[in-house]
Amino acid sequence: MKITAIETHVCNARMRNWIFVKVVTDQDGLFGWGEATLEWHTRSVVGAIEDISQLLIGEDPRRVEYLWQMMYRQHFWHGNGIVRATAIAGIDLALWDIMGKVANMPCSQLWGGPVRDHVRTYAHLGGGKMEDFYNTAADDHKRFGELALEAVEKGYTAFKTMAVPETMPIEGNKPVNYAAKNVEAMRDAVGDDIDIMVDCHARPSPAMGLKFGKALEPYGLYFYEEPCWPESIEGLAHINANLTTPVATGERFTSLAAFKELFNARGCEICQIDITHCGGLSEARRVAALAEAHRISLAPHNPQGPVSTAASLEFGFSQPSYIICETVTEDVPWRNDIVEEGFEIVPEGQLVKPNTKPGLGITINEEEIKKHPFEQEVLQRTFYSDGSVGDW
Ligand SMILES: [Mg+2]
Repeated sequence: MKITAIETHVCNARMRNWIFVKVVTDQDGLFGWGEATLEWHTRSVVGAIEDISQLLIGEDPRRVEYLWQMMYRQHFWHGNGIVRATAIAGIDLALWDIMGKVANMPCSQLWGGPVRDHVRTYAHLGGGKMEDFYNTAADDHKRFGELALEAVEKGYTAFKTMAVPETMPIEGNKPVNYAAKNVEAMRDAVGDDIDIMVDCHARPSPAMGLKFGKALEPYGLYFYEEPCWPESIEGLAHINANLTTPVATGERFTSLAAFKELFNARGCEICQIDITHCGGLSEARRVAALAEAHRISLAPHNPQGPVSTAASLEFGFSQPSYIICETVTEDVPWRNDIVEEGFEIVPEGQLVKPNTKPGLGITINEEEIKKHPFEQEVLQRTFYSDGSVGDW
């Protein structure tokens, strides 16, 4: 059995261009799907996949770990930068999809699963619609409350929100009060039994991250995400040690070695590994084992397309420390035209039952993809009140 081609299929979904990766074999009808979506880096990732494919054409797709080692270590430059780690992930996911199809079982079964009856999912505020999730004004507390209620009415028992505004390295009470009032409005709207998560998008400095975190403690957040730059592991560890709210991070970490530093410093309680950015399911499984040793939970970052979701769920059915999966459903209205999924969702609670089809269990409609060709992603830029560059 040989790999004969590695194709990229780009599908513009407004905030992101979904990059689907198709690994084709010389066996009739046998191919695998992966995803390597990296917003604002679409051309780079597509190019990186073409570069890496030179190593893989003609190889046996069933030697997943051997091929992963080639992709990571050969051509001299290790594959832990964000572009190459994402490209490797897209191919690695497709190889696992092929492995499942060859074995005629879902990927999670290849890894000893399923370890649970269902995977719990959480929503973005507004279902991930760009205007609602990213662009609701920081002082529009009422809107935060309305969107929170909408998520619960759709069956979700947990949702995430960007309630912390863009913030200079040090500020007074104004942004902190905005954040607290936004979370208060959501808590009032949905009651105590719903889990609320706040994503800071690493906007605050460590000092401001702790200040926001302290202000939000009374609302009992399920987790508090990226309260400062991921580069500042000591900052994350300081915030995590000084809050009862668990800190979550990991979407911008791209290798086992990077997670080792994070876990050793106890920079988080929840590891938000992104399966499409960290070198794929092969590396994610190693990170999960390391997280297990630290008793750190897993809740993958997954605002991308449907192959990323399928892979994040297969991972969830194989990992005991997995607590919840991020999902986006309303980024584009035609999302379900692109994919047929192998799992069922119980609307009450938005719980996903195990995929019953081989591999990642998905069928991708290539004709539908062609209706949404590449477009430059919407630029999302931030400048502070004094004109200096900020973190979006
Ligand atoms: Mg995030």
